[in-house]
Amino acid sequence: MEIQKGERWRCQNPVCGSEILVTTSSRARGGSNPRCSCGEIMKKPYTQPGLRPFESEVEARVKLEASRD
Ligand SMILES: [Zn+2]
Repeated sequence: MEIQKGERWRCQNPVCGSEILVTTSSRARGGSNPRCSCGEIMKKPYTQPGLRPFESEVEARVKLEASRD
């Protein structure tokens, strides 16, 4: 489980509802989600807006064209 800088993580306890904004990239030990101060696990509710899916789509298209010959 990688924790990237700029990600938002939300506590899964509806009563708590804490949200954190990651300010330092890190890798959680044991592959587990980070935990809130209330003891509940935290999850990443939002997908990070970025150009990555678009970039990979373009890359795939370029590869298809290249393999045509
Ligand atoms: Zn919490």
